[in-house]
Amino acid sequence: MPLPNQAHLSVVIPVYNEVESLPILHAKLTGVLERLSPGWEIIYVDDGSDDGSTDALLALQAADARVTVVVQRRNFGKSLALNAGFALARGDVLVTMDADLQDEPDEMERLLAKLAEGYDVVSGWKKERHDPLSKRIPSRIANRVTAWMTGLHLRDMNSGYKVYRSEVVRRLRIYGDLHRYIPVLAHYAGFRVTEVPVTHHARRFGRSKYGPGRLLRGGLDLVTVLFLNQYGRRPLHLFGGLGGLLLLAGFLINLVLSIEWFMGVRPLSERPVLFLGVLLMLMGAQFLTMGLLAELIVSHMQRSEDPLVTTARVYRAEQPAGEAQPQ
Ligand code: UDP
Ligand code: MG
Repeated sequence: MPLPNQAHLSVVIPVYNEVESLPILHAKLTGVLERLSPGWEIIYVDDGSDDGSTDALLALQAADARVTVVVQRRNFGKSLALNAGFALARGDVLVTMDADLQDEPDEMERLLAKLAEGYDVVSGWKKERHDPLSKRIPSRIANRVTAWMTGLHLRDMNSGYKVYRSEVVRRLRIYGDLHRYIPVLAHYAGFRVTEVPVTHHARRFGRSKYGPGRLLRGGLDLVTVLFLNQYGRRPLHLFGGLGGLLLLAGFLINLVLSIEWFMGVRPLSERPVLFLGVLLMLMGAQFLTMGLLAELIVSHMQRSEDPLVTTARVYRAEQPAGEAQPQ
């Protein structure tokens, strides 16, 4: 699907205490947007800032009707800030970038050109990254592991700089810290995802909002993403399989012990493996019931899910007027 040259752009920018950067970013960004698009909007999402960013954003909004400012009630995190911005975006193409001047507005043109080649998501790859080593090394490892586990071979997953066809954003729901895995979620949803190298600047003002804890949390989120993709719609296949195996193993152990006990080979008090048998059976039963509970949740969720959520396009002839509609 080629992209209309003159696509309407919505730029969504999460802001958490970036007051010094905002005027510089806004001036540069509007210059670039004027050049690239006949119709554009910028949606700043103020994620609970307390450094005056809110007032700075409101001033930008008052000066330009193409600016929307969303103020979160408190700091809910980048994922929910993006979600809020996405919900209000009206463009055919969405752009996300960070507010801290680390992403270069000028690069947008190259990201959009790649999108026009037929991709649904283009992510900015911070090839020469200007962040401390303590951040670059864990990030590199995390990117390698993610690429290997998910089958999506990007070198930089968690870049704040991305462009999307609006359809992708309408289909994805992100929460928690899952913004790190948007390319993976899009890939799993069947969209075409790629990356292009972008210039990356060192942070000029303020400080990063993320500490070393991000590696652990990112790891857990990877488990979530993998689980949701493989078993999110059929959880019993995981829990039932695992539970069944444990139950069977425990049952066999206890069966052997019971037979031996009946035959008077050795008293049960001398068979410590009895504990293992009982443990395995209990765990197996737990896994099975957990799987069934998960199925219950999925079956309820399915009722409200759009059946076309997985559909790319529908081809059908226009119904001639007056003819009966097929049931
Ligand atoms: N951000 C946000 N809410 C948060 C944390 C960060 O909206 O709870 C924004 C932040 O203002 C910035 C972007 O997300 O625009 C990326 O954050 P940061 O620069 O701290 O991340 P890093 O570049 O260090 O990965
Ligand atoms: Mg940053």
